[in-house]
Amino acid sequence: MPSTTPLSGKRAIVTGSNSGIGLGIAREMARAGAEVVLNSFTDREEDHALAQDIAAEFGVAASYVAADMSDPLACRALVERAGGCDILINNAGIQHVARIEEFPTGKWDAIIAINLSSAFHTSAAALPGMRARGWGRIINIASAHGLTASPFKAAYVAAKHGVVGLTKTTALEVAGEGITANAICPGYVLTPLVESQIPDQMKTHGMDRETVIREVMLQRQPSKQFATVEQLGGTAVFLCSPAADQITGTTISVDGGWTAL
Ligand code: NAD
Repeated sequence: MPSTTPLSGKRAIVTGSNSGIGLGIAREMARAGAEVVLNSFTDREEDHALAQDIAAEFGVAASYVAADMSDPLACRALVERAGGCDILINNAGIQHVARIEEFPTGKWDAIIAINLSSAFHTSAAALPGMRARGWGRIINIASAHGLTASPFKAAYVAAKHGVVGLTKTTALEVAGEGITANAICPGYVLTPLVESQIPDQMKTHGMDRETVIREVMLQRQPSKQFATVEQLGGTAVFLCSPAADQITGTTISVDGGWTAL
């Protein structure tokens, strides 16, 4: 019978995990028996409470480490403060929507730093330990926008395509050492990041909430259903299973058919 805690003895760091997809993935990692290290840039009581709740619900060790993923040193310090990790999930991400001519330079820099460069820095810090132990999983949360583009999302699309490229290079550098690197490419998942885009889209298109969700946001998602954070967590757990030992340097789309169009 398969173990219900296949990841016991493994420590997973999930960046940007005090909400949305990151929290969902952390919960599925914990359900599978992994110790989890949650992260975001804030250091509030409620952030630490999330880790306590996961520990109580799943009977695993769980902690919260505040670190700003826009800061290269903080990215590396996160891995050190966690004591290294067997599973690294680079999930922290932000979005900004504007025409290229109007795209604020600061937003471009922040998106590239948080959505792309942080994955480089955390991977660099985590790989030596993974190599020493002969086992590791790097899972980068890219996007359908890592494989295809949309207007007005220049920085996000560039960063996510970069994440896919970084994933391939990481996989090649560690091939044959028991370490894999893959990117999960979600389509639309209803999280705070997506929720925050709805009012703008309603204004831009002059539509009500339901219509903007169906006609605009899920326009390119043939299933017309949002993916769930549990489905993304389940995909991440699968990538940590022995069945996925030879899956490396690739992308897995969880996008309701978006990239098949
Ligand atoms: P979210 O806003 O709910 O979560 C983003 C997380 O990143 C939060 O925990 C936030 O605190 C954290 N974060 C932001 N800036 C940070 C910083 N400087 N340092 C550390 N943490 C920081 O959004 P989400 O939808 O859960 O997005 C998670 C990831 O999934 C992102 O990389 C996003 O691009 C990607 N993604 C989301 C969707 C979607 O439809 N929601 C689709 C494709 C990809």
